[in-house]
Amino acid sequence: MNIDSLNQTVIQCRKCPRLVEYREHIAAIKKCAYKDWVYWGKPVPAFGDVNGQILGVGLAPGAHGSNRTGRMFTGDASGVFLFAALYNAGFASQPTSLNRDDGMKLNDLLISAVCRCVPPDNKPSRLEIANCLPYLEQEIELMTNLKGYIALGRIAFENILRSYRAKGVKIPRFEFKHGEVYKLGDGLPWLLATYHPSQQNTLTGRLTVSMFDQIWQKTIALLE
Ligand code: SF4
Repeated sequence: MNIDSLNQTVIQCRKCPRLVEYREHIAAIKKCAYKDWVYWGKPVPAFGDVNGQILGVGLAPGAHGSNRTGRMFTGDASGVFLFAALYNAGFASQPTSLNRDDGMKLNDLLISAVCRCVPPDNKPSRLEIANCLPYLEQEIELMTNLKGYIALGRIAFENILRSYRAKGVKIPRFEFKHGEVYKLGDGLPWLLATYHPSQQNTLTGRLTVSMFDQIWQKTIALLE
């Protein structure tokens, strides 16, 4: 399987009835500001460079962000924050990510998520994440140059670890800490944790522009 065929499989997935109903409901009712949009309303595939060395993992699509545009972190406030930082660090070709046809290219980075369908209240269930995690695991297998993960938030962090433990890798009990780098084991990628760039964090000052820029500078340093 290559990334294009995997993405096609993801886009057609209907494994989680609650999320299928919700993503389609949001796409039908829309937000007033986007009433002229044809919402994506489907699972959102990974975006970026599958031959890259870095895999950024988020939680799930935003209702009127990537559930609308069909591209990871594209079209909402989290994406505005993320792509500005990626551009500053040289991982993105443009500072803003508006839609699937805006010409954005990612450099050395793939962005994915633990859940590909927008969940009510941004909270996928454990079962829904378990249903979806195999897609992330297949992307990891396709990333033959992978050196490290950026876990965008605690749920991404925990599920990357869960996925390795499920394969029998002995990983100690790690506590999520913003800015911390974790070693998963010999020959395995490292994992760098950051607060998720959601407005809940960025508007409260929990995650500032400077803190987030430091995450991507640290990423560059880890690759050197
Ligand atoms: S969350 Fe994942 S597993 Fe569930 S329906 Fe969406 S793409 Fe499929």
